[in-house]
Amino acid sequence: SCKRSGRAGYRLYEEAMRVRLQSEKALEKQLAEALERDELTLYFQPVFDTRQTRIIGAEALIRWPTETGMISPGQFIPLAERCGLIADVDAWVIRRVTDSCERLAEHYPHLKLSFNLSAHHFNYDTFDQLLAPVQDRVRLWGANMAVELTERVMFENTDKVISSLNELRRHGVTISLDDFGTGYSSLSYLTQFPVDKIKIDQSFIRDMLNNTTAMAVVQAAAEIGRTLKLAINAEGIETAEQLAFVQGLNINEVQGFYLGRPMPMEDFMALLESDSD
Ligand code: C2E
Ligand code: MG
Ligand code: MG
Ligand code: MG
Repeated sequence: SCKRSGRAGYRLYEEAMRVRLQSEKALEKQLAEALERDELTLYFQPVFDTRQTRIIGAEALIRWPTETGMISPGQFIPLAERCGLIADVDAWVIRRVTDSCERLAEHYPHLKLSFNLSAHHFNYDTFDQLLAPVQDRVRLWGANMAVELTERVMFENTDKVISSLNELRRHGVTISLDDFGTGYSSLSYLTQFPVDKIKIDQSFIRDMLNNTTAMAVVQAAAEIGRTLKLAINAEGIETAEQLAFVQGLNINEVQGFYLGRPMPMEDFMALLESDSD
């Protein structure tokens, strides 16, 4: 603690904080510039039906290419949330996703592209503002879109969010609950909120074959899907054994490194072409 280490310790702490804030400020500035120059990009991870007969869609995952390599969203999304750039990031994502829907729908009208939105907006009532610029596109491509939200959104929010989500749903947009099982997991909100799909968090898929608790969560999610008539997605499938296990459950769709990694749009389109042969 500060007391025990005394003034010198405190000065060290201050110095460390200053360096951290400085590099955060620098990164924030770089992110703002990257957005402005349209340097961010989306990768697409294929989603398959559980029988693995065909590709049914993809999850759009944001990437930030820099001179020193890709910065993962795990690193810059939290930063964007702290510094207020998240609304711009998510607005960019929605616009890009609707572009991609337009590009794909002509040849592959059954595909759904899902995208992630930060729970952040929902705390500040900015969800409608976020959607306003893409309303026409949502009307056109809604049936080809799925929005992924975390439990936090359901938990902290109100009638207003419910009505916005219902509006999206009216245009055919699927509402998916991401990272299922990691939050507060009160099942009551599943009946209160307009949810179409549950994505079981990948940590449970990773552990299910050697951890009975993880396995129980996966099995319970599959049962919830059956009872509440929700689609279930198992993500993070890395092995043939994991795939075989979920194929024995009431699970509708799968994604994971074993089936396909996130890839640029060009590669995803090539994959679609070979898949439809
Ligand atoms: P998420 O939405 O739960 O996305 C799944 C993450 O798991 C992705 O990491 C994906 O690349 C990774 N993944 C997929 N299959 C496997 C697998 O078999 N094994 C392992 N170990 N990992 C797998 P990514 O792209 O780094 O994204 C991390 C998180 O960042 C996402 O979790 C999501 O919460 C957030 N994120 C990603 N893109 C966006 C975005 O466009 N906007 C917002 N707001 N958040 C995003
Ligand atoms: Mg997701
Ligand atoms: Mg997820
Ligand atoms: Mg996740």
